[in-house]
Amino acid sequence: MDLRYTEQDQAFRSEVREWLEENVPRKKLETLDEKKAWHRKLYEAGYLGMGWPSEYGGRDARPMEQAIVGEEMVRARAPAPVNGLGISIVGPTLIHHGTEEQNQRHIQKILTAEEIWCQLYSEPNAGSDLASLQCRADIDGDEFVVNGQKVWTSGAHNSDWGLMLARTDRNAPKHQGISCILVDMSSPGVEVRPLKQLSGSQEFSEVFFSDVRVPADNLIGELNTGWRIAQTTLSYERGGNTLSRYTRMQESFNRLLDVVGIVKRDGAALIDSPHIRWRLGKVYADMEILRYSSLRILSRLERGERPGPEASIAKLHYSELDKAIQEVFLDILGPYGQQIEGIPDHIALEPDTDPFEPGSWAYAFAWSRAGTIYAGSSEIQKNILGERVLGLPKEVRADRVQATAQQASSSGNGDD
Ligand SMILES: Cc1cc2nc3c(=O)[nH]c(=O)nc-3n(C[C@H](O)[C@H](O)[C@H](O)COP(=O)(O)OP(=O)(O)OC[C@H]3O[C@@H](n4cnc5c(N)ncnc54)[C@H](O)[C@@H]3O)c2cc1C
Repeated sequence: MDLRYTEQDQAFRSEVREWLEENVPRKKLETLDEKKAWHRKLYEAGYLGMGWPSEYGGRDARPMEQAIVGEEMVRARAPAPVNGLGISIVGPTLIHHGTEEQNQRHIQKILTAEEIWCQLYSEPNAGSDLASLQCRADIDGDEFVVNGQKVWTSGAHNSDWGLMLARTDRNAPKHQGISCILVDMSSPGVEVRPLKQLSGSQEFSEVFFSDVRVPADNLIGELNTGWRIAQTTLSYERGGNTLSRYTRMQESFNRLLDVVGIVKRDGAALIDSPHIRWRLGKVYADMEILRYSSLRILSRLERGERPGPEASIAKLHYSELDKAIQEVFLDILGPYGQQIEGIPDHIALEPDTDPFEPGSWAYAFAWSRAGTIYAGSSEIQKNILGERVLGLPKEVRADRVQATAQQASSSGNGDD
């Protein structure tokens, strides 16, 4: 594999960097309108939905070009597009499984953020075991009637549309009775109740559906094939964008390097402590592994292969690594990482940030926890890797467990 960027890629990177330098908003985006305006600007510059076919408003860009934009946005500290789920999940799902009519109706408005999307999958008793979902969509003439509850729906309070998984056949085996349906969030009977978190923010909601009528034309793919469609969605959610995640980690690492050169403990700069140098060295090596594995995914995508269950390797790797790295960062920063009063700008991750706001060390630490839960927890990624990538048996057979236990006790390796 040749890891050098081509001349064409380098020229594209310079063009993106220049555009971002001129256009990244100088002040924090506060209102939804401001966030939509920035999203639209990114789209008009050709930097959103770049890999989508040009007939749907994309530019048929190569995965490498998309990765370059992702990296440069992190470097320029550009705000993320407001219709993140629309771009990363709903658009690709529609392009793979939607009808021409559905795509014409929705894709352009996703790109322009005229319509914001959310993902209506998880339920109070169906998270990791998503196929146990109970929210029902019963057919009544040319409509579905939806009843049930969803939870942890990111951005639901701002969303115009939702990509829903609902049970359409209660008698079929659980994976085979699910359908994927587009739901207009302004339909009568949809109630969004924001969930307030410990941090004070309200990023996700519970969503209740009471006799919500949805046109049958909003079904994606065939009836009762929603599970297969959800696999496409989840592989995009897990496998996409790992290189920009690496870049984000690298940016905070570089910031931390500045800080350890300034902050003193026992009269010496932190960077002079062998222990701290050792911890930073280990983080650096781990980040490099993530960089190379991200490049490996990228070269697969460049060859036209779609992300499959192997996306779980990437998801498990970056989310667990982020958690470990943020812990090291807070250990090294000590009280500066989590103090309640303002942190001096020369130590802050981003200047003028409150200690527990996005952009602070403490927020990055807390948020890294979420990465090992959303889009399937780390334990679930390990199950997928064991069963679907390595092909290991799903059930541990009782006779094998007994045989192993006997062997262990006879060889003296039993319980202490
Ligand atoms: C920041 C964030 C944003 C989210 N946004 C959305 C969204 O927009 N839309 C949406 O639909 N959902 C969203 N979710 C929900 C997310 O998909 C679920 O939280 C996740 O799938 C886990 O489900 P759960 O919370 O019900 O936990 P549970 O499934 O109850 O799991 C609890 C614990 O048990 C472990 N566990 C469960 N089953 C197994 C098993 N078979 N083997 C080993 N361990 C197991 C889990 O790993 C976990 O540690 C979001 C979650 C977060 C954190």
